[in-house]
Amino acid sequence: MAQTHNLGFPRIGPRRELKFAVEAYWKGEAGANDLLAVARDLRAANWQHQAALDYVPVGDFSLYDHLLDTSFLLGHLPDRVARLDGSRLDNYFRVARGRSAGDSDAHAVRAGEMTKWFDTNYHYIVPEVDADTQFSLDADELLAQLAEAKQAGVTPKPVLVGPVTYLWLSKSRDESDRLDLLDRILPVYRELLDTLAAQGVDWVQMDEPALVTDLDADWRQAFEAAYQSLGAAPLKILLTSYFGPLADNAELAAGLPVAGLHVDTVLGNDDIESLADTLGEDRVLSLGVIAGRNIWKADLSELADRLQPLADRLGDRLWLAPSCSLLHVPVDLDTETELDPEIRNWLAFALQKLDELRVLARALNDGRDAVRADLEANAEAVASRRASRRVDNPEVKQAAAAITPDMGKRHSPYAERAKKQRAHLALPLYPTTTIGSFPQTKDIRKARLAHKRGRMNTEEYAERMKAEIRHSVREQEKLGLDVLVHGEPERNDMVEYFGEQLEGYVFSRHGWVQSYGSRCVKPPILFGDIKRPKAMTVDWITYAQSLTDKPMKGMLTGPVTILNWSFVRDDQRESETCMQLALAIRGEVLDLEAAGVNIIQIDEAALREGLPLRRSRWQEYLDWAVEAFRVTANGVADETQIHTHMCYSEFNDIIEAIAHMDADVITIETSRSNMELLDVFDRFAYPNEIGPGVYDIHSPNVPDPDQVVKLMSQAARRIPGERLWVNPDCGLKTRQWAEVSPALKNMVAAARTLRDRAA
Ligand code: GLN
Ligand code: ZN
Repeated sequence: MAQTHNLGFPRIGPRRELKFAVEAYWKGEAGANDLLAVARDLRAANWQHQAALDYVPVGDFSLYDHLLDTSFLLGHLPDRVARLDGSRLDNYFRVARGRSAGDSDAHAVRAGEMTKWFDTNYHYIVPEVDADTQFSLDADELLAQLAEAKQAGVTPKPVLVGPVTYLWLSKSRDESDRLDLLDRILPVYRELLDTLAAQGVDWVQMDEPALVTDLDADWRQAFEAAYQSLGAAPLKILLTSYFGPLADNAELAAGLPVAGLHVDTVLGNDDIESLADTLGEDRVLSLGVIAGRNIWKADLSELADRLQPLADRLGDRLWLAPSCSLLHVPVDLDTETELDPEIRNWLAFALQKLDELRVLARALNDGRDAVRADLEANAEAVASRRASRRVDNPEVKQAAAAITPDMGKRHSPYAERAKKQRAHLALPLYPTTTIGSFPQTKDIRKARLAHKRGRMNTEEYAERMKAEIRHSVREQEKLGLDVLVHGEPERNDMVEYFGEQLEGYVFSRHGWVQSYGSRCVKPPILFGDIKRPKAMTVDWITYAQSLTDKPMKGMLTGPVTILNWSFVRDDQRESETCMQLALAIRGEVLDLEAAGVNIIQIDEAALREGLPLRRSRWQEYLDWAVEAFRVTANGVADETQIHTHMCYSEFNDIIEAIAHMDADVITIETSRSNMELLDVFDRFAYPNEIGPGVYDIHSPNVPDPDQVVKLMSQAARRIPGERLWVNPDCGLKTRQWAEVSPALKNMVAAARTLRDRAA
């Protein structure tokens, strides 16, 4: 009989209960006990939901981030925090976000660096290691949760981030090799496994998603060494990979002395038969068959037919699960009472996915008849989606098929355009600008909510937003910025705002997914061909332009970012979907241009995060992603200046592709690294203009003008001054005006100094 299990359940709760509890604790509105009680209730509810599974994850819950939990479990927290007194909870949040509840400034510390969990939109706190790093087991928290799970009556399967992936995700602060720490970390894992075994744990899930990445000989050797050692522990290890195929690591993974192996069959295409052969007669093969990162229903009959031979052959050595943790999908579709019923019937959130798993396992174990009604309902939903006219728009498909390379080309090369733009826009040297958004004040959020709930009519809402725009424009004029923005008050989110206005999208009401810590996102659902029924931003931008003689920058989100931050249809290639988005945004670019907007910024904040985990697949992705941007942006006249913005600056490996986008100006994040990130420009002569962010918008600190001048001078060593812009790292929407105004004032002052020096 095939067994069922889950790799992880969303922690945030169906109504983001965890977010609100954590934030109340930070604000001092609730005590630690209140927070811990909410957490306990959520775990109990999660286990209840999963009680029908043969094995239920424990330790997948987290107050902030599971990698941070792992660091605590391994007794590995940064010195700057370990030195402070205070409870474990205080220290936990200090690493996570720089401060805990009620911290005075004296107790505030630098927050741990945060980065993306593989190619997802979840962010983890990066473990900081150096040559002296020590580990020591601190399993109390995990053991307490294990006890709770037993109480809840489920069969617990503790979830651990494996030692190799833990080190793989760490960052060395000196030049030391992270792998040198393997010998130090393994005894702690070994002790942990012994401890769990002593608690009667039968199976542990050891997450090693590093197995789906390119591993060199040293890292492969680390896997060998780690599991030779851990494989001897007195319990069974399910070595767990996800987010892609094992591919050339398949032999390595299947050869390790562990009791079972989990592979992602949704994003992977490994040869399952041959994996089963390699695993032999007594080891478990766990297949991730239900998509853990998308929200479409699985085709259960097709899956059952495909899996039946394997189920017959492996019996209870076949385990079935979602492809990865369900952390990446919302909790419960049943709460979506306002969603279009036809489309809702095509979807499955975490709870529905677990139900799919149950039906699938019973279909395999007890025969199709045992779940006839469920299978029929599923087949009907799958067929309804395939046949729906609402998914298809032949006109859009034709337009996408008719895209030519010329549509992605500017009329003239950059150098010629730049001359015309300079004449047309009359900008000074070192022009100043911002990235788009200004503080999203309480008033803005209140008005938006009232409008959404029908408590404020559209006219009044528009008036409020216009008042915000007036305020932003006035402030920018006072500050003396050169290229102004309208401030984006009308946008809740840079993707959702566009999705709401495009055909082919629907929105959930509670479909939240954790992005980092207490921050959740609600990705819009892209279900069909994309069409732009009418202009989306022109009224706002032209209104803003009417208030000033300075150039007003039009603000758009690019196709790749819209794609990467949505739940995307899985019935056609992503590249095709992206091209449809490109055509829609291209229409907006041309409308803005026709309305007299001379500068248009197309944000591609998420271009880099879409890079495949495997290097060998990068070029293919970059080819279509860059082409989508070019089609979006490059239909304009030479005089129109195209900007793009990216909130990161690890460009080294993709700089050629970025240059090929051919934006006139790119603004990037650099201030946090003191412009070190510009090193790439020593190697590669970036041909167009750049605004290296000089002011870290993630911090409330006001930059010092001298510091800005220094940073820009560093930039000017690599890129000629005539091609440099002065701007913050990213949008200012999370900041307050009280911080933004003095910061921009200093930025503008610095630009003036730079101009004077250049004169
Ligand atoms: N224009 C957007 C803003 O300023 C860009 C946000 C982003 O890059 N994440 O908010
Ligand atoms: Zn940004």
